[in-house]
Amino acid sequence: MARFIFITGGVVSSLGKGLASAALGALLQSRGFSVKFRKLDPYLNVDPGTMSPYQHGEVYVTDDGAETDLDLGHYERFTGVKLTQKANVTAGRIYQQVLAKERRGEYNGGTVQVIPHVTNAIKDFTVDNVDDVDFVLCEIGGTVGDIEGLPFFEAIRQLKHELPQGDAIFIHLTLLPYIPTAGELKTKPTQHSVKELRSIGIQPDILLCRSDRPIPKTELAKIALFCNVREDAVIQALDLNSIYDVPLAYHDEGLDDAVLAAFGIKDAPEPDLSRWHEISEIVANPDGHVNVTIVGKYVELEDAYKSLKEALMHGGISNRVKVNLTWINSETVTEDNVDELLRQADAILVAAGFGERGTEGKIEAVRYAREKKVPFFGICLGMQMAVIEAARYLAGIEGASSSEFGACEHPVIGLMTEWTKGNEKVARGEKDDLGGTLRLGAYDCVFDKDSKIADIYGSTDISERHRHRYEVNINYKAQLEDAGLVFSGMSPDGVLPETIEYKDHPWFIGVQYHPELKSQIFKPHPLFVSFIEAAAEQSRLV
Ligand code: GLN
Repeated sequence: MARFIFITGGVVSSLGKGLASAALGALLQSRGFSVKFRKLDPYLNVDPGTMSPYQHGEVYVTDDGAETDLDLGHYERFTGVKLTQKANVTAGRIYQQVLAKERRGEYNGGTVQVIPHVTNAIKDFTVDNVDDVDFVLCEIGGTVGDIEGLPFFEAIRQLKHELPQGDAIFIHLTLLPYIPTAGELKTKPTQHSVKELRSIGIQPDILLCRSDRPIPKTELAKIALFCNVREDAVIQALDLNSIYDVPLAYHDEGLDDAVLAAFGIKDAPEPDLSRWHEISEIVANPDGHVNVTIVGKYVELEDAYKSLKEALMHGGISNRVKVNLTWINSETVTEDNVDELLRQADAILVAAGFGERGTEGKIEAVRYAREKKVPFFGICLGMQMAVIEAARYLAGIEGASSSEFGACEHPVIGLMTEWTKGNEKVARGEKDDLGGTLRLGAYDCVFDKDSKIADIYGSTDISERHRHRYEVNINYKAQLEDAGLVFSGMSPDGVLPETIEYKDHPWFIGVQYHPELKSQIFKPHPLFVSFIEAAAEQSRLV
């Protein structure tokens, strides 16, 4: 059985529990251990799939089609561990399972209660299928003290006693705010947060204390004393310029040593962090920079495009350049100002999204990139907008649009009601539930061997993750091809256009899938590496 590390948060949300879990996973891997992840989310949605990006940030999609919390993206990017739907659960899904079981009469007439039925379901989920790794890092979403988190905290409290003695530890992430008028970092919120944890029966073994400045030794000792934690297990976690420095910084502060000590592991190998040092060195000393402009809808909240941002960073690191991102709200882009807004861009990316708002601005951005021959990358809705642009301005199909935006004369993007996955037929209809009914997860795609994209991947058969409801309408394919648009990648059955490009353009690629979801720090995605290379080339031209 694996050992469990439960990671909880206190004081405020958004302290970076996900990043801390990912970084700790990477540190354990660097010592030769294998890891798995679990993320328990206390909210009542069945999954984050139907939540607005403003509420929840990006929805991260796994190969097996689960719509999950964006922290799973951190885990995969930092450790390369492939996650599945077994990695993330919400209170909504737990209750859904418990209630379905109740309806089937499987509780034998008993009263169904939070303890033990809900907590049992949480525990079953947490310990399922973990025998093949050394450590499971299990992060609890939200902050201690939230009403909806209670069953989850109770479940992990119980687990500590049910797992073999010494096989579970608790790490609590807190914040030490700096109060300018007092000129001091304050430990009281941390003390209260730990008190809250202890009141529900959880004594943390390690405290990871976020702070924007070094924490004096005296304060660390004080936290240890008041929170009943060993002094060498109170770890300072300072703000850093790059998230890729987090594993190194946590190691320097003694996090992995504290974890091993808490488990009583004395013979662990020293970590090999050389590859993290290499990344850190490139991030600190790039050879130059490129300006990439992202035209999107949810640009006020960078978390909404988390994986995209990281994939672009990976592309930058591969090319040893710093990637400066400019975010433009597509609603503000018009034919009149597009030149002014995009003139500085070495490359333009039109991002994914749902709904009509801002799509005309995206189409303008596509047109600008195509005509001015600026490297262009269209992802999902971004590719769909590139197809509409080609239909309207190259093929002369007036009124070309997507049926997602209402009935139109020429739905060059439309709702497919049926497609194949492997040997199975998958169907969906206009009236389906919104949740979980998109084309989700890994699908194969076959490239034309003479295409630029095949060259970039170094292969003609690939698989990528999807999350969309609409597809390029195959009925317009011939007309669009005649106008110059190349359908470089198709689904294996030849029914669904997956990628597009132009021959007479330095770098113009649209993909129906989400390549950003598979880019990792040590396995940067080839499309992002190539896109940033094209941006660097462009920056030398201008
Ligand atoms: N709204 C589009 C669709 O559902 C694109 C989705 C996306 O960009 N992820 O097909």
